[in-house]
Amino acid sequence: QIINDSTIEKKKEVKNTSIPPTAESLPNHVQYLLVGGGTASFAAMRAIRSARPEAQVLMIGEEAALPYMRPPLSKELWREKDLSARFEHPDDISFRQWNGRRRSLLYEPNAFYTSADKLREGNAGAGIARGWKVLNIDPSAHTAVLSNIDTEESHVLTYDKCLIATGVRARRVPALRTAAAAGRSLTLRSVHDTARLAAAVDDPAVKDVAVVGGGFLASELSAALADRLGPSGKRVMQVFRERAPLEGVLPHYLADEAARRLEEAGVTLVASEEVVDSSVDESGRVSLRLSSGATLVANVVAECTGSEPATELAVASGLEIHPELGGILVDAELRARSDLFAAGDVACFYDVALGRRRVEHHDHAVVSGRLAGENMAGVKRPQHYTHQSMFWSDLGPQLGYEAIGIIDSKLHTVGVFSADAVKEQSTEARVLGAADGEEGAKAEGAETEGAKAEGAKAESAPKRYERGVVFYMREKRVVGVLLWNLFNRLHVARQVLAQGEFDDLFEVAKLFSLNDE
Ligand code: FAD
Ligand code: NAD
Repeated sequence: QIINDSTIEKKKEVKNTSIPPTAESLPNHVQYLLVGGGTASFAAMRAIRSARPEAQVLMIGEEAALPYMRPPLSKELWREKDLSARFEHPDDISFRQWNGRRRSLLYEPNAFYTSADKLREGNAGAGIARGWKVLNIDPSAHTAVLSNIDTEESHVLTYDKCLIATGVRARRVPALRTAAAAGRSLTLRSVHDTARLAAAVDDPAVKDVAVVGGGFLASELSAALADRLGPSGKRVMQVFRERAPLEGVLPHYLADEAARRLEEAGVTLVASEEVVDSSVDESGRVSLRLSSGATLVANVVAECTGSEPATELAVASGLEIHPELGGILVDAELRARSDLFAAGDVACFYDVALGRRRVEHHDHAVVSGRLAGENMAGVKRPQHYTHQSMFWSDLGPQLGYEAIGIIDSKLHTVGVFSADAVKEQSTEARVLGAADGEEGAKAEGAETEGAKAEGAKAESAPKRYERGVVFYMREKRVVGVLLWNLFNRLHVARQVLAQGEFDDLFEVAKLFSLNDE
């Protein structure tokens, strides 16, 4: 939904009358019950309504906002001047994309949704009960127990088919408990969290902000905060356990490149440090005690220390949780039990090509939500998970990357980068393989040897990696492809992943036209 500034002004005047619906206005039975008001749920709703336009669908979401996309919360949104003020109208949040176009964060405006009482009267449509949470499901009886977040009023309804798409929650670190209790260590998962964090870091009294974590969230947020706060002289420090940010997903030389980019953006990196304790003084300043014994002082802490699947409902409902990967165990058709499905971040599914997985990315939420919705609607024969989802990330407008398949730096990787990035090379492109981690070091074959030699050369002089492709290997099979500052090539990556085995990855890399813009 693309909207302009004047539409926003007009929409601000529209009074929202639908949050939260009362228990009396909620239906006693729905055909399709979708638990969670996030991306996977929304995609399932769309698929069901498209397959069965006469269907009655009810989403239950504990957040106050209408369904929205989360990726801009750690990126473009931070370019909005009046960020915390923008959230005064939770039905009307918009942002400017990197390409300059303004866009709504919401998937659909309020008017799109059918009110709960219309559904109760038996009308078709898609409704959302926000501010409500599902506490328990009885998969045999097809009943769900709901509770209102504010009033704790409860409601029981029956369903024909149900989807659980409860996502993940921010993982809190015990070492930051004191800072969190004082309201100085904040997480970033929702629009509500974004508003709180924006109000905190924009406070003129704040001089130093510490972002704890070295994953996607911390790295994206650090870049965005440095861009926002740097001009006013505020300092953004990113502290993490790893040697370089994003080291869990990127081969070591690209993680080093990410570190360079973050430093250039103005972020102070505090690497190889774990936050082991925190305290808050009378003026509200937080002292973070680090594993080396050093202390880092900040006015505000952004706690970007991972996530955990939101499985309380699944556990209360007697569903099976995967012991290592976490999440609700579902088959390749995303079914946990008869008429009960799971999708998105919370689903631990069987990928027929790559094995059992759990994925915490936007596109997977869309793809799996849609698949679950189609299987729930039952118009076509049940489909299984074959479409490989992608993910993307960026560190500001100048550096972005996209990937599909299994992206894990513990795997052996082979990288090929464009000639202009590695200027001393006369060849068109060059393999900069990384025998990262034990699995990589153990891998055999001419390609690995070549890769090691190039990797050693690369270590002697730091290079800039502007544009390239990285193949993630399980033995001889490509199981993941990452495109570094290289866009509109995912269809090629998909084909490479489908074929899997190749004699010469350097030749395969040429398919990606690294030197074309
Ligand atoms: P969610 O979007 O988390 O939705 C689940 C919803 O269910 C939540 O609103 C939750 O409150 C609600 N809920 C939980 N339990 C209950 C219950 N019992 N009853 C009712 N409601 C409940 N991915 C990318 O690929 N690229 C990116 O650039 C990117 N950026 C991100 C930036 C941020 C700041 C964050 C937080 C995530 C980002 N992601 C990104 C990840 C992506 O947003 C998630 O993978 C996606 O939102 C998952 O969708 P979901 O529907 O499974 O879960
Ligand atoms: P993560 O698990 O990737 O990263 C957590 C980081 O915190 C790690 O670097 C870890 O070492 C560090 N850490 C934990 N405790 C620490 C401590 N005490 N001291 C120092 N460092 C500590 O998770 P994340 O980056 O927080 O992401 C959370 C969720 O958001 C995930 O679901 C993720 O997929 C999603 N997300 C995705 C994107 C994207 O796809 N582009 C962007 C943002 C968020």
